[in-house]
This record gives sequence, structure tokens and C-alpha cells, in this order.
Amino acid sequence: MTLPSQAAIVVIGGGIIGCSTAYHLARDHKADVVLLEQGKLTSGSTWHAAGLVGQLRSSASITRVLKYSVDLYKGLEAETGLATGWKMTGCLRLATNADRWTEYKRLATTAKSFGMDMQLLSPAEVKSMWPLLETGDLVGASWLPTDGQASPSDITQSLAKGARMHGAKLFEDVRVTGFEMKDGRIAMVKTSKGDIACDKVVNCAGQWARQVGAMAGINVPLQPVKHQYIITEKIDGLATDAPTIRDPDRRTYFKEEVGGLVMGGYEPNPQAWTTGDVPDDWEFRLFDDDYDHFEQHMRQAMARVPALETVGVKQMINGPESFTPDGNFILGVAPECANMFVGAGFNAFGIASGGGAGWVLAQWVVDGEAPLDLWVVDIRRFSNLHRDRQWVCDRTLEAYGKHYTIGFPHEEYASGRPRIVSPLYDRLKQQRAVFGSKLGWERPNWFAPEGVEPQDVYSMGRQNWFAAVGDEHRHVRERVGIFDQSSFAKYELSGPDALKALDWICANDVSKPVGRLTYTQLLNTRGGIEADLTVARLAEEKFYIVTGTGFRTHDLSWIGDHIGEGLDATLVDVTEDFGTLSLMGPRARDVLSAVTEADVSNSSFPFGHVREIAIAGHTVRALRVTYVGELGWELHVPIAATGEVFDALMAAGGKHGIRPVGYRALESLRLEKGYRAWGSDITPNDTPQEAGLGWAVKLRKNTDFVGRRALEKTSGAALKKRFAGFTVVDPEIVLLGRETILRNGEPVGYLTSGGYGYTVSRNIGYGYVRNADGVSDDFLASGDYELVVAMERTPAQIHIEPMYDPTAARVKM
Ligand SMILES: Cc1cc2nc3c(=O)[nH]c(=O)nc-3n(C[C@H](O)[C@H](O)[C@H](O)COP(=O)(O)OP(=O)(O)OC[C@H]3O[C@@H](n4cnc5c(N)ncnc54)[C@H](O)[C@@H]3O)c2cc1C
Repeated sequence: MTLPSQAAIVVIGGGIIGCSTAYHLARDHKADVVLLEQGKLTSGSTWHAAGLVGQLRSSASITRVLKYSVDLYKGLEAETGLATGWKMTGCLRLATNADRWTEYKRLATTAKSFGMDMQLLSPAEVKSMWPLLETGDLVGASWLPTDGQASPSDITQSLAKGARMHGAKLFEDVRVTGFEMKDGRIAMVKTSKGDIACDKVVNCAGQWARQVGAMAGINVPLQPVKHQYIITEKIDGLATDAPTIRDPDRRTYFKEEVGGLVMGGYEPNPQAWTTGDVPDDWEFRLFDDDYDHFEQHMRQAMARVPALETVGVKQMINGPESFTPDGNFILGVAPECANMFVGAGFNAFGIASGGGAGWVLAQWVVDGEAPLDLWVVDIRRFSNLHRDRQWVCDRTLEAYGKHYTIGFPHEEYASGRPRIVSPLYDRLKQQRAVFGSKLGWERPNWFAPEGVEPQDVYSMGRQNWFAAVGDEHRHVRERVGIFDQSSFAKYELSGPDALKALDWICANDVSKPVGRLTYTQLLNTRGGIEADLTVARLAEEKFYIVTGTGFRTHDLSWIGDHIGEGLDATLVDVTEDFGTLSLMGPRARDVLSAVTEADVSNSSFPFGHVREIAIAGHTVRALRVTYVGELGWELHVPIAATGEVFDALMAAGGKHGIRPVGYRALESLRLEKGYRAWGSDITPNDTPQEAGLGWAVKLRKNTDFVGRRALEKTSGAALKKRFAGFTVVDPEIVLLGRETILRNGEPVGYLTSGGYGYTVSRNIGYGYVRNADGVSDDFLASGDYELVVAMERTPAQIHIEPMYDPTAARVKM
């Protein structure tokens, strides 16, 4: 077969991800696809994978992607004639201490929320399923019967064959050597065997994806890390259908293979490979065996499976795999180039993810937007920070080392910090701030009172900051607090067509007079919520857009990509130009009026307005908004003046009891007021109507906007899910999200976020209540609700209205 000179879509890489993507592009979309592999198919990381296939993740969408993989692997042989080695052995996860057990109880609840049946077993039950295990130290184990194992090379060959059967053209021994760019897009893929003109490129080049991306100016932040496992000789008494084992307290995993065991682990001291380019000639290659480094796993594994003490080791595999700074893989359209898509960085679960990742990536390539909420793996979750290879390496090694540690709620990463600090960093540190980090920014989470160590102490129950955050919360409700939100992402859109561009992009009506703010969602073509932000009209032709810290790259590229062709509107990221101080609480006006001569009375400066005012000699953009449900202003200050303006506010606020307040209090305040958080409460899977945000959509106006058609199609029909709040009285309960919602004893959904409301003195959760026949007001109000929290049922009260309403000056319970 000769290499074509043209193709609609070129997929780079013949590992499991590239083959799965090509298969789905050909099968589902009848696309004109060419796949290029520099060596032989599977010769990168895929051929030496251990082949464990687990499905449960903390995101419902990613769990769905992994479940899809299993369904595909089950049936693929029937279609292609090539076996995948799929065996549904189930997976046991072992627990040896109380915190791990709590983690599993929460995990089992998450599994139920996502429609999977995870059970909790006693040590005796574990022993009867896997007699060779030493179970004396176990508290118990979780059991997911639908997990299993497969043969990585066989699946990949089967997918490759399927792709060919559906018309894709796959080429081995063809290396991509560069791209010809035109107007910021890839026009031509250059290869060792000739050039291919194309519309779209999918970069599935595994650990080479970073350097392949770099050839088009794209950043794919991944780090190759050495990962080892052994394969033993036959072990007497080991069943061929023995469940896979994960023993995280001993940092190891096991899988049966031809009568012996595959055993590997995630060590706390992982070994990075190069931070430079990965060599091209790495076909079917491994590193030398490193028994010194592996010994830590060997010791732990022998204590768990004593038969390992006497059985011989047939082979050691020491291969590179790409890991990422947050342990999630990387999918989607590159923000730097509208026609390069990426599927890479699979963190040693590429075999488990392969089938599903190929399915959603193919759909994404064809539609130009993700088919479901894939935010946790979206390449747009990164920023320029992730171009720093050493930073990426350090953070990635930390994430690798934590793969099997207990996941405590609210845990922060420690490496590569502090990286980006606001001008207030030292001042806040002096005030005993305990910082978290978001997209590289240090942000105060809470302030430790004298006598309390300014440091998080993680636990499964209430953590050491609980009381301090309660004080901060009450302070904002009763007096006034100041939040450093300088990390907010900020953009300016200006030009004669700026309004026209935003009219199309925003679901809400932004065509308000100068000086007005609009809270709006940006929708995808399914009507799902892609972003949630504030637009301030500064001038006829100038808008200031403010969104969450973590969404900086995503929202910027979404807006940029949706500015209509030919429009004269310029989008600029001005995040670092402005510090943001949010002054919130009933005394906020007293404080603000003391530092400015501007009239900040309600009549001159009502809610939903923006004004430029002078504070301490600096011009400040004051936005009258709130995320905490109190009177307040977001003050956007020229970055160099942030410290001075902060000092002026603190001095003037002294007599009103002003104090700095952190992000954990902010979360508690917003939960009480019912403000939705993008990425959890509202996602591309949810429409504004379902989320109770229909009031912020301009359907009555005669303007077209992205998502309008989808919303019109369903308007008038009963909603099949609706967002609601829940409270739980039991103070011992800790809500984190993903707890199951029961209505009259039947599961109807799960929590999307959870926490504690200090004013209402209740645990608070939010989530969607689902019903195939529609969720009416009456349906919501008439049920008896419970939440399943760590496998225990607890009564819950439903709330359709915010639980806290400052204008009514009372708590609605
Ligand atoms: C020791 C070990 C154990 C593992 N165990 C498991 C497990 O139990 N379960 C699990 O789910 N996952 C496991 N994994 C992870 C799994 O192997 C990977 O996630 C998966 O194989 C990644 O597939 P990929 O297609 O992204 O990358 P690869 O398989 O590396 O494919 C990328 C391909 O791109 C090609 N390429 C690169 N550059 C170019 C270019 N310029 N032109 C053309 N082609 C190019 C490469 O040659 C390569 O074949 C393990 C990994 C290791 C290292």
C-alpha cells in the first residue's frame, strides 16, 4: 500500500490509543483515516503493559469511558476474529487500616452512584476467593466483579484489524517528522516517506506525544517514568480465573498470567526517564532490570503472597510509560492549534482506557466538541506553567508516588510550590494563611488562629481547619471579609464586533448598557454548559470577562474558537494585569465608602454593575457581584497596586472587624447560597434548565447563540433530571460529592458537590434528581429523601430554594 498524499484525518501512533481512535473514526464516522506508526504497531508502551483493566474513577464520565472499554473488549473478537484476551476476573482491593476502609466505603458508594456493584468483603471471604493470600492484617476488601484483565498487544491488533475492516489505512515504519502550518493550523503532515495534506491530526504518540506536539507548537505536559513488574513461573494452587489484586497499603498489584503472577507496584520514589526528547529508536525496547529499586515491592509482595518466596521469576519488565502532573490522561483539541487533537499520557491505565478513550476522542475530532463532560482529562486544564519540563516532572513524580496512598479529602500537592503568588502572599502568610494551589497559584485556603498550627492535618472525618473555617464563614455573614482571588482568569474582548461575538457565544443577554454585568453560561451545541462566567461591559466595544482560576486555558480557547469568522473582535488574556480582592459581608459598603470618594450607595451602584473607582490613588474596576450571598464587590486592581489597595481596605475596615478569609469558607458560603460550581455541579453534560439556571438564558430574545437549537428542541418537554440541594442533620457525616441520592428508597442520582454550611449548621450537598418520566416540582417535593454516605443511609431534606437568603435575613430550613 502506498502512502496517500491526502487524508481527512491523520492519526499518529500505533499503540492502543491510536488504533482505538482510528477504529472508532472508521467504524462510527466512516472517516477517511490514515494511521502512521514509526515502528511496528504496539511497539511503544503498549506491548509491555501488564494488562489489568479497572473501571472505577472518581468522575462519572471517565468511569463511563472505562466501562465502554470493557464492553468493547468483550465483543471485539466476534467482529474482527482476533481475540483480546479479555477475562472478567473481578478485582479485589485490600484494606489494612481504618482510613483505607473508610475510603473503600466511600468508593463503593461512588460505584453504586455510577451504576456499578462494588461489594465490601471480610478477610475470610477474601481468603476463600484467593487462598494464596495472607489475610491476617486485613480489615477487608472491596470487590468489583466486572473488572478484569486483557492482553494489551492482542487488543491493539484486534482494534487495528477492525479499523482496516472499516476502511482505515494503517502504515508501519512511517515516522512523522514535522508539520507544515498555515494560519495556525496544520496543513500537511511531513513523514519519512512523503507528505500528507490533511484536515485534522490526532496525536496519539504515547511518550513521544510531547515532542510530536512541539513540532506544531503544542504543549503536551507528560513525563516518561520507569515502571517495573515481574512475571513469575507457575504457582501451585493459583486459579487461572483468580481476581486481580490491588494492595495499595503495600503499594503493589497482582494479576494471574499463564499460571504464574504478574506483580508490580507504585513506589514512593519513582524514577523519571528523560525530561528531554524520547529517542525515536525505542521500538520494543526496555530498560535494564533494576532489582535494587524493585526490592521494596518484592518484600511487600512476599508478605502478601508467601508463595512468591519460593517461585522463580521468569521475566522482569522495566518499561517507560507517560505520566501526567495530576494522574489523569490528556485528551482533546490543543488550545494552541485548532486542528490537532491529543490522546496521550495514560498513567499506566491506557489499556483500561483505550477502548473508551478512542471512542470519545473520535467523536471529539469529528464534532469539534467533546461528546460528554471530559473536563478532568481535557488538555485545556493545563496552562503555560506546564511548559516547564522540570516542574511537570516534579509534580508528575509526586502524583505517581501518591497513586496508592490513601486519598484524603481536600489533599493538596506539595511539589513545585510556591510557583505563582499574588502580591499579597507575604502579607497573608503573616496572617497565618494555609495555602492551597490551583493552576500553579498559591491561594489561601484558611487562616490558622493563634495556637493552631498553620498546616492541614488530613483525616477522613472533620479536619483540623473545620472550626477555624467556621469562624471565617460567620465573619463574612455577620461583618466583612476580604478574599484574595487574584488568580481569577481575566480576559478583555474588544473591537467593533465584540458585542456581536459575545451575543453568539453567551447564553445570557450581554447586550446591556455600558456599566452592566452579566452572569452567563457558554453552551455547547447540545445545550450543555461549557463555561460559567461574568461579563462586564466596560465600554461600547470593550468587555471584561472573569472566570475561575482553573478554567483559564479552557475558557479562553472556547471563546476564541467561537468568535464568528470575519468579526473584528480581539481577545486578550489579562489575568496577570489585575489582582482581585473580593470584599464581602454586610459591612462591605462601610469599608468601601471609607476608601473611595465614589458613590457606592445601592442607588448609584446597584447589584450587577461595574464602575471604575479610585482607591488609594489607583483606578480599580469594581464589580458588584457575589459568590457568597452577601453584599459585596470584586475589586480588580492593577496588579502592582494590589498590596496598597489591600492595606487601605484593611486599615479602613479595622473598625468594622475586617479580616482576610480563605477559599474553604468561600466554598461553605456558596453552598448555603446555592451557587453552582462549574466542573462539578454544572458541566457539559447539564443544560441550564436542568441546572435551574434557565433564567440566565435569552431564549425569549430573538438572537441566535450556541446551544439555542438544542434547548429549543427540548423546551416544553419534561426535564429528566433537575438540580436540587440536600441537607443532613447528623453532624458526624462528611459529604464530599458522589454520595447516592435515594428518593423513597430508590437511587435517583448522586451528589455533585458537598460540604458544611456553618450558618445553617447542616451538611449540604447538591446533585441531580433523575426520573425517566420527568422531574416535576411535585416529584421533587413529594419524595422522602436519604443520602447514602460511605454505605450508610442517612435521612436528608431536599431544598429547591437557596438554604440561606440574606435579603430575607433568615435561614430557610
Ligand atoms: C510496565 C508497564 C505496565 C503497565 N501496565 C498496565 C496495566 O496493567 N493496565 C493498563 O491499563 N495500562 C498499563 N500500562 C500502561 C499502558 O501500557 C499505556 O498506557 C498504553 O500502552 C499507552 O498507549 P499509547 O497508545 O498511548 O502509547 P504507545 O503504545 O507508546 O503508542 C504510541 C506510538 O506512537 C508511535 N510514535 C511516536 N512518535 C511517532 C512519530 N513521530 N511518528 C509515528 N509514530 C510515532 C510510537 O512508536 C508508539 O508505537 C503499563 C505500562 C507499563 C510501562
